[in-house]
Parts: sequence; C-alpha cells; structure tokens
Amino acid sequence: MKLKVLGTQSPYNTLGHNCPGFLITDNETKIMLDCGSGSHSLLNFPNDLNNLSIILSHLHRDHYNDVYNMQYSSFVFHNQKRIERPIDIYLPSNPVSIYQDIIEETNSFANYSAISEKTNLQIGNISIDFCKTDHPVETYAVKLSNEDRTIVYTSDTSFSCKDKLVEFAKNADLLICESSLLTSYGFPEINSHLTAKQAGIIAKESNVGGLMLTHFWPEELPEKFVQEAKSIFSKVIAANEGEIIDFPKIKEKEEDLR
Ligand SMILES: [Zn+2]
Ligand SMILES: [Zn+2]
Repeated sequence: MKLKVLGTQSPYNTLGHNCPGFLITDNETKIMLDCGSGSHSLLNFPNDLNNLSIILSHLHRDHYNDVYNMQYSSFVFHNQKRIERPIDIYLPSNPVSIYQDIIEETNSFANYSAISEKTNLQIGNISIDFCKTDHPVETYAVKLSNEDRTIVYTSDTSFSCKDKLVEFAKNADLLICESSLLTSYGFPEINSHLTAKQAGIIAKESNVGGLMLTHFWPEELPEKFVQEAKSIFSKVIAANEGEIIDFPKIKEKEEDLR
C-alpha cells in the first residue's frame, strides 16, 4: 500500500494546504479517504478517477466539500469516454439532508453505498472496517488492511471513545490521527476533537508502528503538534500535502526518529 497525503488542515484550506484527504493505492486499487476542500487538487485527472473508491468518514464540510467536484468530473470524463467505470462513493447516511443532496446529484457518474459500523468492504486486496467515533455527526474511523500492512485513520473524534479507538487501532503499522488542538491552550479533556497529546496517548496504548498527525489548525505550525505528541509517543510525523509514503519507508522514518 502507498499513502499520498492530499489535505491536512481544517476548517479551511489555504495556499498549499487542503482540508482532509488521503489517497491509498495498492496496485490498481485507489481509495480516497475524505474529500475536503482542495484535496482533489493533488489527484491526477482523469487517471485517478479510474477504479476509484471514495470513503467519506463523516458529513462535515471540511471532509466532503470536494465530493461534488469529484462527481462532476466523473460525469464530464465519462461523457468524453475517458473513464469506463463509475466511481464508488461510501458515506454515512446522516445528516439525511446532506446524504440525500450527495446521492441525488444528477451530473455524476458514481455508485453510492451507506456505511455503518457493521460494514466490511473488500476493495481489490484491501479489507476495510469502520468504528463509530464520538463526534457531533455520525463519524467513522477507518481501518484498511492488506496482507502485510494496516493503516487506521481516526477521522474526527472526541477523546471520550479513546478505549474503543485503541482497540480498533491495535498494532496497526500507521495511525493517521487528528490533532486539532493543543493542550497548552487549555482545552478541556473531553471535546469534539483531540489534542496532539491525546493522539499520542492513543498511539502509545494501541502500540502502532508510527503516528501521523493531521487536521491542523491553519494558524499553527504542524511542528507544535508533533512536539506535544512526542511527549507521549516518539514515532510521530506531521502529515504534509503531496507527500507519498511507501510502507517500507515509514519504517526508515521511524529509525530516523529514534
Ligand atoms: Zn468533523
Ligand atoms: Zn474535520
């Protein structure tokens, strides 16, 4: 599996920094995890539309805004006969008005499936499971595994479901964890988002191979979040737009961090 970072910032994108998105590839399989504002600017069109599945972890604007552009692009490229298969879009069915708005889009060449905690997907060689987090709307952490690697993406979450996330991420090779907040700012422990320190606690307790922080506040340097998480867990990197991580290389990065 390869991971390409498409977007790391919330609640808005700025030049060079997009709202949440990741592209995971494994041979012909392509899975876009979240579709935040600007995230699709790092895709290769129309090639990346071929064989593409999109998973929306939840229906907050910073995670789904670009899905409309993806739908419209699929429609246009299909009309030009440059993509053959519809893209597959997986998303929570709540809030219902947003779900309906997405699946009823007519200028689109896509299939839609609602996800739940019981959903298990097999896309190419990748098996995908979901874990509901505590967040103001229906939200899922996502686990992607092939025969030799496992990536877990927390999406947005409160620390109130920490134990559930630790269990879900147990022994994963990489945990991509939101860290919207800094403890130094005095945020209460239970919020609708995590501090970098809490991301470190989840990484440590789940014994993951590495921690990639994301979902950064635009006015802060990602290094500040890395520093805070490192007080708990040493193998930390900040997600960075355009970076491609090939899994053997994450192990080398871990060595560098020691
Ligand atoms: Zn959210
Ligand atoms: Zn978010």
